[in-house]
Amino acid sequence: GIRPLVAGNWKMNGLRRSVDTIEALKSHAQEGVLERIDMLVCPPATLVALAVKTMDTVPIHIGGQTCHPAENGAHTGDIAPEMLLDVGASYVLTGHSERRTDHGETDEVVHAQTLGAWRAGLCAIVCVGETKDEREAGNEVSVVAGQIAGSVPDGATAENTVVAYEPVWAIGTGLTPTVDDIAAMHDAIRAELTNRFGDEGAKMRILYGGSVKPGNAADVLAPNNVDGALVGGASLSASDFMGIADAV
Ligand code: 13P
Repeated sequence: GIRPLVAGNWKMNGLRRSVDTIEALKSHAQEGVLERIDMLVCPPATLVALAVKTMDTVPIHIGGQTCHPAENGAHTGDIAPEMLLDVGASYVLTGHSERRTDHGETDEVVHAQTLGAWRAGLCAIVCVGETKDEREAGNEVSVVAGQIAGSVPDGATAENTVVAYEPVWAIGTGLTPTVDDIAAMHDAIRAELTNRFGDEGAKMRILYGGSVKPGNAADVLAPNNVDGALVGGASLSASDFMGIADAV
């Protein structure tokens, strides 16, 4: 089967003292969880280098939360994928709904960022998900399929790409889709990926994100095509994040 990935997205949270959380993850991880799953922490950009240094001997991956498509240039405030790689990151999120909303990132932008991530040698976690209105109108599968078509470039492989399904209305709300709804969406995403990328699409990891907590992780992660989780709020607590990892 596909090796699961449990990823934490700290969003705009964390100061240098937050490496305490990294230290706690490290000691818990030494008890064996990494024999079954891959783990990733995406701290804010200011902490990526420190997180890499702190994780040192434990193979929990560190990633960025977004990147600019280009390698360098006159783009004040932006961070190139090569810069993330340079400080030891191995993954980067692209197209998180908060980037799409707060920064107007379209599928076209996310597509370019994903190509940039690949160029640098990072694995891109391409995020997609419908809004509440889109689900209520029954359009969730077509919205997500459209985002995948527009955001995931040709050439995606199981090595360079992970897809994260994060329904916008489930992010930070404590609401989650039913297990059947998650299963149905992940089956639809798998069909899209296999249709377009063949065997690579069949092997590509599809994560669920949106209000994943230790208490619901086992249920949410149970469906066949759920290959891990992208965790926001609960990843800020080492014990909650490890509780989710242990539930996989
Ligand atoms: P929450 O886990 O806080 O709902 O956030 C999910 C998310 O957006 C992860 O990228």
